[in-house]
Amino acid sequence: AKRTTDKLRSPICAVLGHVDTGKTKLLDKIRRSHVQDGEAGGITQQIGATYIPTDEIERQTAKVKKGSKFEIKVPGLLVIDTPGHESFSNLRSRGSSLCNMAVLVVDIMHGIEPQTAESLEMLRKRKAPFVIALNKVDRLNGWIRTPNTPIQLALKKQKQPAIQDFETRLDHIKLQFAERGINTELYWKNKNIREYVNIVPTSAHTGEGVPDLLFLLVSLTQKMLAKALAYSEELECTVLEVKEVQGYGTTIDVILTNGTLREGDTIVLGGLEGPIVTTARSLLMPAPLKELRVKNAYVLHKEVRAAQGVKIAGKNLEKAVAGLPLYVAHTPEEEEVYKEEAERLLEDTLNAIKTVEKGVCVQASTLGSLEALLEFLRTEKIPVSAVNIGPVHRRDVTRCTIQLQRDPKYACILAFDVPVDADAKRYAAREGIRIFEADIIYHLEESFRKHMEEVKQ
Ligand code: GDP
Ligand code: MG
Repeated sequence: AKRTTDKLRSPICAVLGHVDTGKTKLLDKIRRSHVQDGEAGGITQQIGATYIPTDEIERQTAKVKKGSKFEIKVPGLLVIDTPGHESFSNLRSRGSSLCNMAVLVVDIMHGIEPQTAESLEMLRKRKAPFVIALNKVDRLNGWIRTPNTPIQLALKKQKQPAIQDFETRLDHIKLQFAERGINTELYWKNKNIREYVNIVPTSAHTGEGVPDLLFLLVSLTQKMLAKALAYSEELECTVLEVKEVQGYGTTIDVILTNGTLREGDTIVLGGLEGPIVTTARSLLMPAPLKELRVKNAYVLHKEVRAAQGVKIAGKNLEKAVAGLPLYVAHTPEEEEVYKEEAERLLEDTLNAIKTVEKGVCVQASTLGSLEALLEFLRTEKIPVSAVNIGPVHRRDVTRCTIQLQRDPKYACILAFDVPVDADAKRYAAREGIRIFEADIIYHLEESFRKHMEEVKQ
C-alpha cells in the first residue's frame, strides 16, 4: 500500500501504571485545562481514548518549546487510558503498531509498585518505547504551585525543602529502575534517548509538567517513529472491547490505527464461535467534550479516519473477541480470506499457549487479558492446564473436572474479568470445582494462594 512519511497519522499512546498513580487524572488534566479555557473545536473524548488535535497541543506546549525550532508534524495524539491496555499486549506481539508509545505513570511518593513492575515487564518484552511520568510532584514537601507550568520553570520556583525532597525521591526511583536494568534520566538532561528512558515530573492536580509530557510524546514519536506513523489507506483496526449499549444492542469498541472506516462496510472479525461477518450499521463517537455531560450522547459518523477510537453497532456482535483485528471486505472473495484469517489468528493464539497436564484452568475476557494473566502465572510458577476466553460456561467446568483425578488442588478455574453463568456455578459446586473470580490479577492470585494454603492442611 501507499505509505509516505510526508503524511503522518496520529500516534497512539497508552497510559500505564499502578492503580492510583494518577493515569486518569493526567488525562483529565489535559482535557479540563482545555475546557476551562473555553476554546472551541478542541479535544474530544473518544471511545476508550482521548484525541488531542495539533492546535491544542500547540497551545498547551507553547511555553515548553519557546525558542526551539520544534514543529509538530502529526495531526494529533490519540491517548488511551488503561482499562483496555491489556488488549494491546498480544497485538504488539504480532508486530502490530497499535500502541506507538507508552506513558508509564509512577507516583513520586511511592516509587515502583507491583503493577508498575508488571507494566514495565510488558513494555520491555515488546520493546515498546515509553516515557515515565513521575506524578504528584505537588505533594512534595513545601511545593509551591505554579499551575500548568513547564516543569523546569516550576522547579526554579521551589525553595530548598521541595528541591531536597524532589532530588531524594528522584534518585531513589532512578535507582529502582536501574535495579531492573533500565537507565532513566530527566528528559531535559537526557542526551541519549535510545539508551535512557525520559522522566517527566508532573502533577495531574496542578498541571506542572503536563505541557512537557505532551511535548515529549509528540517530539519522541515524530523523531523515532516517523515510518510507523505513515498514513496508509490499508485498514488497520483492532477490537478493544465488546459492550452492551442501551439503544444499540451489542457494540464493539475499536481502535482504528490506519485507513478509513465507512458506515455500511462489511466487517469481518474473530468470534468465540467462529468468524463474524456483519455490516457496520453505525459508526459512533461520543459528542465533543463540552457535551459530554449528556450521558451516552453519541454522534453518528459516515466515515472515520485513523487514528481514532470508534464504537461500531451492528448485528451479531455478541460473540466478538476483543484483542483481535477487524477487517473490511469489499468482495465475497475478500470476505472468505478474512474469515479464514480471523479464525486462524484466534486458533493460533490459543494453540500457542503452552499448557501442562496438571494445572489450573484459566479464563479471561480478551486475548490480551488472558496473556497478561498467563504471564503473571508463569512468573508465579502456577501451572496451567487449559485456557479459554469469554464467560465461564458449564463446558469449561466439565473440562476442569479432569483435574480432580490428576491433582485435586488444581481443580479450580481462575476467572479473570469474565462472568460465570449460573449453571456453571451450580455445576462447579456440585462437582467440587472451585471458581475464583476477580477483575484484578492480584486478587485472583491471593484467592488462589489462600486456597493452596487450605488444601495443604
Ligand atoms: P489511576 O488509578 O492511575 O487512574 O489514578 P487516578 O487518576 O484515579 O488518581 C488516583 C488518586 O490520586 C485520586 O484521588 C487523584 O485525585 C489523586 N491524584 C492523581 N494525580 C495526582 C497528583 O498529581 N497530585 C495529587 N496530589 N493527587 C493526585
Ligand atoms: Mg484510572
